[in-house]
Amino acid sequence: MIFTVAIDGPAAAGKGTISRAVAARFGFAHLDTGLLYRAVGAKVAAGAEPEAAARALLPVDLQAEGLRSLEAGQAASRVAALPAVRAALVDFQRRFARRDGGAVLDGRDIGTVICPEAEVKLYVTASAEVRAHRRWMELGGDAAQVLAEVRERDARDMGRADAPLRPAEEAMVIDTSDLSIDDAVARAVALVAARLESR
Ligand code: C5P
Repeated sequence: MIFTVAIDGPAAAGKGTISRAVAARFGFAHLDTGLLYRAVGAKVAAGAEPEAAARALLPVDLQAEGLRSLEAGQAASRVAALPAVRAALVDFQRRFARRDGGAVLDGRDIGTVICPEAEVKLYVTASAEVRAHRRWMELGGDAAQVLAEVRERDARDMGRADAPLRPAEEAMVIDTSDLSIDDAVARAVALVAARLESR
């Protein structure tokens, strides 16, 4: 069975948690596409050329230490604005999306660019303040600085020319600002279940 769930949205909106829960609930494979850009960003920070780093990316690179840090997120968002880097990562993501058995991909451009034919498209969002607070709870640091970084990354991801972050036209929006994680997951699971039943 080919069935893709595309989950897009800004940083710390809850995409990762929702994606993992949906994948586990339906037995689908899950790909956190942000990790691809984080791994490329880390290689570039270590001196690699961006496009070459993206083309040479290996599964083991996704396990590098420190990829979840704020700095790695900023480095990812800088390389993610380069069209050659994005192009180098398209085929792998498309193949993953249409693999047999169902797939959940979370990122910024899954429903708009990587898999416009996805059976379910969700756009998971929350206010910048709520997202920054979550990041701060998770990683600590200076709260005002974390909010500034969230805003900076939003602006870069939404403002870039190639594959900017925006909801796909037919995406269903889940705003998690005032939702518990359990409620957000339940909403996503219900939407996927309804689409599976209607097939
Ligand atoms: O989701 P995560 O915070 O790990 O993503 C890190 C960065 O990678 C994002 O800020 C964005 O610039 C980039 N990204 C992207 N397209 C995706 C996934 C992530 O441009 N599909």
